[in-house]
Parts: sequence; structure tokens; C-alpha cells
Amino acid sequence: MSEPQDCLFCKIIAGEIPSTKVYEDDTTYAFKDINPKAKVHVLIVPRRHYANVAELAKADPAELAHIAEVAQSIADKEFHGAYRLIFNTGLDAGQTVFHVHAHVLTGEKLDE
Ligand code: 5GP
Ligand code: ZN
Repeated sequence: MSEPQDCLFCKIIAGEIPSTKVYEDDTTYAFKDINPKAKVHVLIVPRRHYANVAELAKADPAELAHIAEVAQSIADKEFHGAYRLIFNTGLDAGQTVFHVHAHVLTGEKLDE
């Protein structure tokens, strides 16, 4: 389950692929999305590998709550606490990387 060799985000967490770090702690890593969809677009990932948010919620709900707290703290700094938090789940919902990640969109007023 942890650190599959072909997982892009495991490689980013391990520092094998460069990324622009926004936040890190013992369990969690946050970095800028390479193709931003808002002025500030950050991806927050657990260091441990789970395929999607449902797996994470089941295995480690405290980590899921922590990811929400990290999102809030990024948005507090970037845009008075306003943000959008998205977990694309499944191919048909646009998930392309199967290491769970929260998209945090903030830094500007977002389209409705
Ligand atoms: P998904 O489509 O799975 O919800 O989101 C994957 C996200 O990862 C996309 O927004 C994409 O731009 C981002 N991404 C893909 N490859 C890289 C990369 O090598 N570095 C960074 N920082 N982001 C990436
Ligand atoms: Zn992974």
C-alpha cells in the first residue's frame, strides 16, 4: 500500500521528482499544482499512499481531517480563508493520479 514505485506523488513526496513545497509535516505534504486552475492551486497529499479519498477516510480519518485543516491554513494566508477543496475520485471524475490528493483553489474570487 505505501509508496508504490510507479506513483508520481510518492516520487514527489520522496523528493525524486521536484516540486514547489507549500507546507509539510510528519504525515502530510503540500505543493503547487504544475497546471494551476486558480491563482493559488495547491495539492495536499498524505505521505502514505492511498488511492483515493474513500480509502483514506476508511484507513485514517484523522489524516483526512488534518488535510482539511492544512487547506484552511493555506487559504487563511492566501485569501482570507476562502477556498475550494476538491477530491477528484475515479477516472470518470477526472482523477489522473491515484494517490489521494486534495486540490485547494484559492488566492482569488472563484467562478461559481
Ligand atoms: P487529478 O486530475 O488526479 O485530480 O489531479 C492531478 C493533478 O496533478 C493535476 O491538477 C495536475 O496538474 C497535477 N500534476 C500532474 N503531474 C504533476 C507534477 O509532476 N507536478 C505537479 N506539481 N503537479 C502535477
Ligand atoms: Zn503514492
